[in-house]
Amino acid sequence: MDISLQQVGYLYGKDTPFEKRALQDVNATIDSGSYTAIIGHTGSGKSTLLMHLNGLLKPSEGVVQIGNAKISAGTKAKGLKDIRRNVGIVFQFPEHQLFEETVEKDIMFGPMNFGVSEVEARRRAHELIELLGLPPEVAQKSPFDLSGGQMRRVAIAGVLAFNPSVLVLDEPTAGLDPRGRKEIMDLFYRLHQQEKLTTILVTHSMEDAARYADHLIIMHGGRSVMAGTPEEVFSDETKLAEYRLGVPRSVKFQRDIEKLIGRTLPGLALTEEQLATAIATAAKEGGR
Ligand code: ADP
Repeated sequence: MDISLQQVGYLYGKDTPFEKRALQDVNATIDSGSYTAIIGHTGSGKSTLLMHLNGLLKPSEGVVQIGNAKISAGTKAKGLKDIRRNVGIVFQFPEHQLFEETVEKDIMFGPMNFGVSEVEARRRAHELIELLGLPPEVAQKSPFDLSGGQMRRVAIAGVLAFNPSVLVLDEPTAGLDPRGRKEIMDLFYRLHQQEKLTTILVTHSMEDAARYADHLIIMHGGRSVMAGTPEEVFSDETKLAEYRLGVPRSVKFQRDIEKLIGRTLPGLALTEEQLATAIATAAKEGGR
């Protein structure tokens, strides 16, 4: 499902004394099947933008197009139901929204509310427990008896239970330790590839954006100020610095090494593995 934003503006508390502009003239496209990272400082408009992606907010100005559906200021709530089911959002700390007695019931709750039969919802819940790498016996446990990382997986399963074609992730690894972070990020990448899930990641981590995404959107002061592949965006360090953003650690290292050896390495090292390969190639060539 392709998504596009055309001249989107958003005002919180419109026409009240507390009116606050959060988005201005945002233009962006997110292609079906892509993995897009949205990057920007706190207050740059990322959360407001992502709430437009499933109709939780309607633009004050401009148009948000999700598949064939167009959402503008005047769109009626009724038209948004299908969009909500097709675009799943994993909010920060999603485990805070768990509430059922058992993990199985928690995952089944959403689909059953949308009219899916109990048998089908249970089948999907067990499939997701396995897909998310949870032991089968958690199905009958209380979600509150699980570890933090496991609770997060259950909450993510609750979003995936709708079989969304677009998955929006708002800082999905916040509060997890480094190992838990990597596991969850690798899991989303696997889902993106296996299920052809269009994935949209809001992140502060340049490393995650460089490693997983194929398209980046940079937000600054409520505007989308840069967009492109990670190679394109991270090669323009000067422009990124204008938005007080940096490049991934591997790119920083690459530039430091280039200064030390007095020549440039080929390509842009978006990950540590790519950097290691570039250094090894340069070392071999230097030894000849
Ligand atoms: P980010 O997710 O990048 O931190 P937000 O979308 O949360 O940015 O915020 C964009 C701007 O909108 C900020 O100036 C913020 O203070 C303002 N804002 C966010 N939520 C609200 C709200 N509920 N009411 C009023 N202003 C808000």
